[in-house]
Amino acid sequence: TAKQSGKNRYFLYDAENDQRTRSHHEFLRRLALALGRNEFELYYQPKVDMRSLQLVGAEALIRWRHPERGLLAPAEFLYAIEGTTLEIELGDWVVATALLQLERWHQAGLPMQVSINISAGYLQAKDFAWKLKRKILRHPGLPQGCLQVEVLETAALEDIPRVSDTIERCRKIGISFALDDFGTGYSSLSYLGRLPVDTLKIDQSFIRDLLGDPGDRAIVQGVIALAKAFDRKIVAEGVESEELFRELVAMGCEYGQGYGIARPMPASELPAWLEQWNSAPFS
Ligand code: C2E
Ligand code: MG
Ligand code: MG
Ligand code: MG
Repeated sequence: TAKQSGKNRYFLYDAENDQRTRSHHEFLRRLALALGRNEFELYYQPKVDMRSLQLVGAEALIRWRHPERGLLAPAEFLYAIEGTTLEIELGDWVVATALLQLERWHQAGLPMQVSINISAGYLQAKDFAWKLKRKILRHPGLPQGCLQVEVLETAALEDIPRVSDTIERCRKIGISFALDDFGTGYSSLSYLGRLPVDTLKIDQSFIRDLLGDPGDRAIVQGVIALAKAFDRKIVAEGVESEELFRELVAMGCEYGQGYGIARPMPASELPAWLEQWNSAPFS
């Protein structure tokens, strides 16, 4: 049997691998088709100033409205496009779509900031800053500072000199940067001084058990202190309850996002959510 024979085992393994490669290619083809068919959507999750309760912006989060499988979260498909040309094409689509939405909100009298999530590959493409600038110039009505780019801390750490150069070039055209999932990078904190991001987003894994876990509380308190020392803004992710919200305010956290404030939603639902939030938050 295959178990007894090294050769056969190798053959079996190879066939499996081959099958995997084939279905990967099929999935990629399906994803490219999805882009062409306009099956991707951006959902938006509000970000609020935790002291004033004011809406300050929204984070754009990609979804795939799959005709058979329903609404898919990024974890179900983004991994497949890493390192392919589709990674760049989808990144371009996210930037263009978010800018259009931003312009609509500004024209409707909603002075929002929108944050977009950018993959490591998209950020590290050498024409990133140039492309972003060209796209923003198509929206001359938008004020400086209304677009923010979120990059995973782990991605920023891959090449600090290059990433900070990119950030500097983008800052000149009014784009700010946030380090996403901050605290999960397992790295020395000394790099912070060399990365000109203006926001740290504390990863939700530290926020979730904040009320019960002294270790998480110490980390969150530390990150808040670190942000203040480096003059960076701080956003807590994963604020799931009013109780957590209150605790974070008491700890000196400035901005928050999470299901306790609002879930990600289609852009069209944001005005109604805002009206509700302004009249009765947390209800
Ligand atoms: P992220 O940027 O850290 O976004 C936060 C994730 O946590 C989102 O998941 C959001 O829906 C979820 N979330 C927000 N508040 C809460 C909460 O209170 N509790 C819990 N349990 N979860 C909460 P989502 O939308 O599935 O996105 C997952 C990740 O996929 C994002 O993490 C981001 O890294 C990536 N992503 C999303 N959209 C894009 C995109 O357009 N491009 C790229 N390259 N990556 C994206
Ligand atoms: Mg993010
Ligand atoms: Mg995050
Ligand atoms: Mg995340």
